[in-house]
Amino acid sequence: MRRGGASTLRDLSLTWKDPRRRVPRTDTVLADPALTAALERHGRDVVRSAVRRAQDRVRDGSLEPGAVPRAVLADLPRHATSLRPVLNCTGAVLHTNLGRAPLSAAAVEAITAAAGSTDVEMDLATGRRARRGRATMAALQAAVPAAEDVHVVNNGAAALVLAATALAAGREIVVSRGELVEIGDGFRLTDLLESTGARLREVGTTNRTHRRDYLDAIGPQTGFVLKVHPSNFVVQGFTSGVEPAELTGLGVPVVVDTGSGLLAPDPLLPDEPDAGSVLRSGADLVTSSGDKLLGGPQAGLLLGRADLVERLRRHPLARALRVDKLTLAALEATLTTAENPTWVALRADPEELRRRVGLLAAALTDQGVETGVVSTGAVVGGGGAPGVELPSVALDLPEGLARPLREDGIVGRVEKGRLLLDLRCVPAARDGEVRDRVLAVVRRGPAASTTSGND
Ligand SMILES: *Cc1c(COP(=O)(O)O)cnc(C)c1O
Repeated sequence: MRRGGASTLRDLSLTWKDPRRRVPRTDTVLADPALTAALERHGRDVVRSAVRRAQDRVRDGSLEPGAVPRAVLADLPRHATSLRPVLNCTGAVLHTNLGRAPLSAAAVEAITAAAGSTDVEMDLATGRRARRGRATMAALQAAVPAAEDVHVVNNGAAALVLAATALAAGREIVVSRGELVEIGDGFRLTDLLESTGARLREVGTTNRTHRRDYLDAIGPQTGFVLKVHPSNFVVQGFTSGVEPAELTGLGVPVVVDTGSGLLAPDPLLPDEPDAGSVLRSGADLVTSSGDKLLGGPQAGLLLGRADLVERLRRHPLARALRVDKLTLAALEATLTTAENPTWVALRADPEELRRRVGLLAAALTDQGVETGVVSTGAVVGGGGAPGVELPSVALDLPEGLARPLREDGIVGRVEKGRLLLDLRCVPAARDGEVRDRVLAVVRRGPAASTTSGND
């Protein structure tokens, strides 16, 4: 007994001294309940690699064996995606580079609910196949009663491509020269439409197009007349355009690309065309985006005459442009909830913004940060309501903070050598985060400021 006891002690002390003997076995670590959720989320291979790295650290003495599960968790990617959430302090409500419209809580919830198996194409009562996205289509149609029928595709550009292909391939699209816009990042409407095999018949001039210009161009080759709302610029001065209403009754469909996705008129943006009014004025088909002024997910909306929408829906290309269940879910939620972050931002009261920015500035000044409150102008952005400036208020900071704050998820805008953090698009409940991150970045100091961005 005694000898046995002594030998056990000696073994223990040996074990203690030999790092290899202290390394917990991979299977033992993987079976630790602390890692169950991580295994489910990241899969066995990813977690096992993290376990190997932790074992190496035990071997080289930099990690206690008991701390292995915690080290494994800390080593795993914190987010399932490398897309970083940011606070939009740019003052551009629909910032293209920040993903345009942020989704409402209802839309996010809908996406989560639809993420697994769902009845997107099944009638659960009969067990038979059902029309895909029927509830979303019903919600869209309810939002625009003037539309006889509706269809949804991947984005605004896809809506145009589908209309051009189904209604004008091998024929002509009559369009005003003043409306052939570039929609951003070098994508031109001209190229997009011509890629479908339709020919563009340009009429009028950059600044003026008259009804007779359209009349002269329309003929047996015409697939449709296209009106494009030039959403990202305004032509001022000696201008003249033709309303869709003036082009109806000519025997060819009038298709209007409104761009913004506004479905009904809104007094805040009186010059922005909305789908309902455009259809009531005689247009046959309206195309627009889902993630601009509608405030929903990326999508392309097609609304209008039943026979035309049916032709689009039945075209083979429709299958390639169709939206997934997540988009359908988010779009339905957006259409059936009253408010979304885009409209909260658009309607934000400048005085309330001034109060919020004032509180932030006071709190930061207290901590020795050089800052102030400035009046500024926010924009709709994302190719919507050009020329409209929304009075706004921003926190004024040294330009040098722009990059470290950006890398910390606070994206402002640099203007005249200053960094402006406009709170219009920041939910009020998150003002504290802006304050804390500004403080953290200031405290980290200039040396650290260019090296952050891990995380
Ligand atoms: C934004 C826009 C488009 C393109 O829509 P996406 O959803 O970005 O594909 C097309 N036409 C107009 C007028 C637009 O404003």
